[in-house]
Amino acid sequence: MVKVALLRVEDYDYQKVEDAIRRGLALLDIGEDFFRGKEVLLKPNLLAPAPVEKPVCSHPSVVRGMARVAQEGGGKVGVGDSPGLGSVQRVARACGLTPLLQELGVPLLSFEDKVEKKFPEGGICKAFPLTSLLEEKEVLVNLARLKTHNLTRYTGAVKNLYGCIPGHQKGAYHLRFNQVENFHKMLGDLLGLVRPPLSLVDGIVSMEGPGPRRGNPRSTGFLVMSRDAVAADVMACRLVGINPEEVLHLKHAGEMEFGVTKYQEIELVGDPEEELRVQGFQQSQGSGAPTGIIPPFLANLMRDLFIFLPRVIPDQCKACGVCVESCPAEVITMDKEVARIDTKNCIRCYCCQELCPHEAIVLERSFTLKGILKRR
Ligand code: SF4
Ligand code: SF4
Repeated sequence: MVKVALLRVEDYDYQKVEDAIRRGLALLDIGEDFFRGKEVLLKPNLLAPAPVEKPVCSHPSVVRGMARVAQEGGGKVGVGDSPGLGSVQRVARACGLTPLLQELGVPLLSFEDKVEKKFPEGGICKAFPLTSLLEEKEVLVNLARLKTHNLTRYTGAVKNLYGCIPGHQKGAYHLRFNQVENFHKMLGDLLGLVRPPLSLVDGIVSMEGPGPRRGNPRSTGFLVMSRDAVAADVMACRLVGINPEEVLHLKHAGEMEFGVTKYQEIELVGDPEEELRVQGFQQSQGSGAPTGIIPPFLANLMRDLFIFLPRVIPDQCKACGVCVESCPAEVITMDKEVARIDTKNCIRCYCCQELCPHEAIVLERSFTLKGILKRR
């Protein structure tokens, strides 16, 4: 059995969040020796610059709370990530994290230097380029934000580790694992390699709808903590009505025995699950369509029939070029000051839609035979 702590937390009041984290650690039997005398790396989700009201990144109160608890426990704390867009400093400034870290004397670290790590146990991916900070630090605390995700359906503790791959390498992995099922398997393998000893999913205010950047804030009122990132995600999914079996990276990680997906193998501690359940949580668009329950050939056909393609709204495009830079398939060009997508060769990773700072890219369903032929 693996323990998962469910903690009711209504808002981001500093003291409430800190108290909840302390309670979670106690419920998980994590004592003071977990942090004492150790180099601790907190890995929040710092996806892209966004104001704190938008749940794009980990909430600063959660990062602050864990940093304080780890410092009090005798750890030497640093916070780091590799954002999808912008520098880690810019993202931290935008969401209001910078002054809180300065107050605590906690350095903000950028995942730039990489170390090639072999992983023969991986199901589909046998090596990853990871931030060298994972080798330098002794304890990794994985601080995820609960969000929907147009490509992976849900992003939480396991998907948050994708940020451990520095900079543009992330795009290369989108290209290499350009079938959505394979991308999920790669994420599951990445967890198997990184194996954070503590994961937290921030679901105090989550993102619903077209996440992970364009969705809407939804007050959901809980934190989930566990030593097992997969089990934490399974419970976070259940609380907001996402079927964890349809989140294929969780399924793969479970099959590979990198974490626990079976509900009967999870021991819940803390507040009752039924009291924290959220009704009517809006799901994602895109490749998050439930493909895990059908054979791969049918899934690929369905992908062509039902899945979304990106489209630029010309009037909203500011010709900033972010999408051109972020497209791993290099199928976006600038044409008369407007981005143009060669959808025929698009691998549907949705990085462009996720990262466009001007909300100028939408996803549109391609589900007619005409639509498919047009793509060919
Ligand atoms: S990122 Fe958005 S605004 Fe910038 S060029 Fe691409 S579509 Fe236009
Ligand atoms: S056009 Fe957008 S969705 Fe298509 S491959 Fe490029 S970044 Fe991914």
